Amino acid sequence: MKLLLEGYERFRGQTWPRLADIYRGLADGQSPRILVISCSDSRTDPATIFDAAPGELFIVRNVANLVPPFEQGEGFHGTSAAIEFAVTALKVQTILVLGHARCGGCAAALAPETLNPGSFLATWVTLLEPAKQRIAHVHGDKHEALEHESIKVAMENLRTFPFVAEALDAKRLSIVGARFDIATGVLEMYDAERNTFSPLH
Ligand SMILES: [Zn+2]
Repeated sequence: MKLLLEGYERFRGQTWPRLADIYRGLADGQSPRILVISCSDSRTDPATIFDAAPGELFIVRNVANLVPPFEQGEGFHGTSAAIEFAVTALKVQTILVLGHARCGGCAAALAPETLNPGSFLATWVTLLEPAKQRIAHVHGDKHEALEHESIKVAMENLRTFPFVAEALDAKRLSIVGARFDIATGVLEMYDAERNTFSPLH
């Protein structure tokens, strides 16, 4: 709690005066143009990486930046609800799936025996199964391969949501993928035409 309160003190003393006008302007509503789906990992904060101001990014964070395929029925679909709100109510123009290096969620999917059977986490990372199957032939760095492939699967799963497909067809929305390398701070962007990730510098 000490860490939080000290941070809040810095926020009120230094950050708030600088951003007060922006916050006041946002008090009546938000209109972010970008939805970011990123990992809960403490090292991959999208607002930090993209130097974003309040109101600019609508962010969903979960373990391993996953998007479940569209499914109907009851249940607490937290990630799907946020995607639905961002696309249908906020009408974001871009969805970024932001993965990262050294992802613990991807590592857990590669070593499922380390997870408690039946735990929320064990069930959640089964969403990585399609990506795991696609990298089965990889002999090199399986972690990096899975981090890349899972971003692509999340992008594909986004298209299974009818309201996302509709916005894509109407060219109101685009979906992009990227992976953040924690040790170097470099962002790799997914190039769909070449089916590869290329670093930005
Ligand atoms: Zn992660």
